[in-house]
Amino acid sequence: MKIPKRIKYGYKNLNVSFIHSSDNQGSSASYNSWTDKIKISIDADKAKCHYTSDLIHELVEAINRRRELNLPHWQIQALAEDITDILVLNKFMETLEP
Ligand SMILES: [Zn+2]
Repeated sequence: MKIPKRIKYGYKNLNVSFIHSSDNQGSSASYNSWTDKIKISIDADKAKCHYTSDLIHELVEAINRRRELNLPHWQIQALAEDITDILVLNKFMETLEP
């Protein structure tokens, strides 16, 4: 399954972009509270098997910021890992490819 370029989140479309390790420090999510826009970057140099978990992780990061949940990073990691497991193991979502 191809990694999506846009993800719907509520009434918003989130843009997913690819970065290279030399340009950045891995995958990331940023939220601009003025524009209410979220940008998720997935590290294109990572092994393919990490794309799905990276995307879910950065989505949880984005939700955490937009909703001002202030979850510590270990809780974001735990949520993302278990959501990824549930979606992939139950075939709701296939492993993503760039
Ligand atoms: Zn994180």
